[in-house]
Amino acid sequence: MKLSDFIKTEDFKKEKHVPVIEAPEKVKKGEAVQITVTVGKEIPHPNTTEHHIRWIKVFFQPDGDPYVYEVGRYEFNAHGESVQGPNTGFVYTEPVVTTVLKLNRSGTILALSFCNIHGLWESSKKIAVEE
Ligand code: FE
Repeated sequence: MKLSDFIKTEDFKKEKHVPVIEAPEKVKKGEAVQITVTVGKEIPHPNTTEHHIRWIKVFFQPDGDPYVYEVGRYEFNAHGESVQGPNTGFVYTEPVVTTVLKLNRSGTILALSFCNIHGLWESSKKIAVEE
């Protein structure tokens, strides 16, 4: 058994768990580039104490390199909890993250998201780096 056996993927337009990566198709080498990853972009995912997205991790895999590099891990820690009980709280973290990267080689951005009851989901997007 491998962890990768449990990482699912789908068309984000049909499946609310898939992380959607928004990034430019092409960037200049070393330029600061903003990327955004959203779960539930087309079909909103529930955000309740019982059912929510816990985290998104972002990786970069440079073309021709045998390894993948972790870019960041982003936790979503508020889902309506309070002393009154589930879903009575005052704050909910939405599963959206924006970060800034500088790339020196073309490659692939990969995103992995975790729903507390529906597990792991992934997606990827190619990004071209020009000299
Ligand atoms: Fe879910």
